[in-house]
Amino acid sequence: MNRNNWLLLKHGIVIDPSQGIEQEPMDILVEDGRISAIGHQIPPPGSADSGEILDLTGKWVVPGLIDIHVHLREPGQEYKETIETGTRAAAAGGFTAVASMPNTSPPNDSAEITRSILARAKEKGSCRVYPVAAITKGQAGESLTEFGDLLDAGAIAFSDDGLPVSDAAVMRLAMEYSLNFHALIISHAEELSLSRNGCMNLGNVSTRLGLRGIPAAAEEIAIFREIKLAELTGARLHIAHVSTKGSIEIIRRAKEQGVRVTAESAPHYFTLTEEAVEGYNTFAKMNPPLRTEQDREAIIQALADGTLDAIATDHAPHDILEKECEFEAAANGIIGLETALPLTLELVEQGAITPLRMVELISTAPASIIRQDGGSLKQGSPADITVIDPETEYEITRDLFRSRSFNSPFLGRRVRGRAALTICQGRITHQLSR
Ligand SMILES: [Zn+2]
Repeated sequence: MNRNNWLLLKHGIVIDPSQGIEQEPMDILVEDGRISAIGHQIPPPGSADSGEILDLTGKWVVPGLIDIHVHLREPGQEYKETIETGTRAAAAGGFTAVASMPNTSPPNDSAEITRSILARAKEKGSCRVYPVAAITKGQAGESLTEFGDLLDAGAIAFSDDGLPVSDAAVMRLAMEYSLNFHALIISHAEELSLSRNGCMNLGNVSTRLGLRGIPAAAEEIAIFREIKLAELTGARLHIAHVSTKGSIEIIRRAKEQGVRVTAESAPHYFTLTEEAVEGYNTFAKMNPPLRTEQDREAIIQALADGTLDAIATDHAPHDILEKECEFEAAANGIIGLETALPLTLELVEQGAITPLRMVELISTAPASIIRQDGGSLKQGSPADITVIDPETEYEITRDLFRSRSFNSPFLGRRVRGRAALTICQGRITHQLSR
């Protein structure tokens, strides 16, 4: 809408959990970066040359998608991804905001780095960027960062993601400290003494391939510890990339007991299993690893019943040389920003979740977990809007990706549904050519 004063979205099928709107044909008027009206038969506010009317018949109109777990790799690993390319991939995938994890090089453990990420995002970004700052200096797991300074600089949560905070006393201190600022702690839950030598899930496939396995217990023990510490301190805890059935059972019980915990899983954990590693496929190597069919089914169930609050991608770009090597030596992680939406739509197609629940998982709940704007199409809200074409069928190919990397296990997969239009703060950041 760069040259337009207004944008009128006509006849889209609106889905907005924040207002209880489930698939209702409505119009939305965007003015000055905000939603100035939502309703039926909204007239254009001015002459045709001062704005634009888009007919969205047959398309879904939802609050902008929010991914609270992304690795943008800048500063320091710009050969994998930059804030510019990563946010362009986000916009193409339908996202209007991403939370960027701190395991850059150097790690984001200072107000200066947080500010530089935000400045870069403002200059080159195609979506909002919410920096997550490190819990410990240098992500070394020893001494805490300056939470107050980091929050003042614009950090929105704390995590040592990429690594766990292995020392329970340090994590306890971090949680106690977080209370002073009402800050969120995001846990990468991993017991390194159990996972350290492994490169895939421990089970029949790892035995067959002769690869060292990571037991589900490496994740579950760590999640249990984090929950006990949250219970002890009263801190607000978010568990990243949940991958096992046992983890879900622990989180479910904690929620029943009133612990302030939320949790996310990623599309690859509800789409793939350890079988994807067959043939030593390094594009199926990530941490935590792909698990079993039983785990996959438990994750889908937990996304439906609310035990899992959000879907986040753990978008982790790597250069091809870091993946074209022996399985044990290959880097962990896959890109996810441009495949998350069609993979989540598969759950809708299967009837596992409703479209309303999908939008809650990938927009409304993430906004509320990180306590930022977005996740709503209410009048007066920032105009962060995603328009989904739910019908278009296509194959995921390398040339589709705006990301600088293409390490995806979904290359070659036939999918249905795509972001047709992404609007961030009233500005069109992605539009499929018609
Ligand atoms: Zn992690």
